[in-house]
Amino acid sequence: MSKSFTLRLVIGLSAISLTLFGVGFYSSSAASSDDQVINSLGTVDSVRRLSLPTNDIVFNATDSRLYASVPSSAGSIGNGIAAIDPYAGTIGAPVWVGSEPSKLALANDGLTLYTYLAGAYSIGRYDTRTQHLTSSFLIGQDPNFGLTGATVAPDLYITIGISGAVQHIAGISGARNVVAINRDADANIFKYARYGVVGDWKQIVPAFTQRLKELRG
Ligand SMILES: Cc1cc2nc3c(=O)[nH]c(=O)nc-3n(C[C@H](O)[C@H](O)[C@H](O)COP(=O)(O)OP(=O)(O)OC[C@H]3O[C@@H](n4cnc5c(N)ncnc54)[C@H](O)[C@@H]3O)c2cc1C
Repeated sequence: MSKSFTLRLVIGLSAISLTLFGVGFYSSSAASSDDQVINSLGTVDSVRRLSLPTNDIVFNATDSRLYASVPSSAGSIGNGIAAIDPYAGTIGAPVWVGSEPSKLALANDGLTLYTYLAGAYSIGRYDTRTQHLTSSFLIGQDPNFGLTGATVAPDLYITIGISGAVQHIAGISGARNVVAINRDADANIFKYARYGVVGDWKQIVPAFTQRLKELRG
């Protein structure tokens, strides 16, 4: 579902006037408005509201920009990725990436942004340096594995936050090596896993991928 978002610029007591109009920037008739709000410290923040339909937003610390996936319902600027400068309060003209960009995932180096193209059952790969889609690949209409999804038998199957419901196990029972990451030590998936890690995937996965990189040299 698309949603609007609020960008908070902490600028002390005075409001600032930021333009959204100019070459290379997207703007709309209701592009922005400024509000004054009292923050938790009791001081005044200026909040700039930018009007842009979005499916997902991520912050890229590498270039200090927010990236938003813009649904087709946004009209001529839809089906794109928009780069937002939170300091200037400007929205870059959205770059077309394909049908219905939704979830965004940023690579650790901040140079590659992946988006799920829900209308094309694909993953799009976007380069944050050139601000262009560099490739996309199909993942199929039903990425579910299990009773009502696909049956797979890979050498290695890594599950992250998968409980191991019988309907899911039905589709992966041919996997030779299951690695399970789950914060619930009693999760059913551990009965089927050759290797299991109990913990929060947000901590485990970065450590896991770092170790893989080290092993690959
Ligand atoms: C007729 C029928 C057919 C079905 N067919 C399929 C099918 O084909 N494929 C399928 O997959 N399902 C199918 N299901 C659904 C199935 O019953 C389960 O609901 C589904 O598999 C559960 O998916 P899940 O493991 O992603 O979610 P959940 O069961 O909700 O499990 C989420 C897991 O994530 C863990 N977790 C949450 N947060 C974190 C964190 N931060 N770090 C680490 N771990 C975390 C939790 O401990 C939990 O174990 C079917 C159901 C029915 C009734």
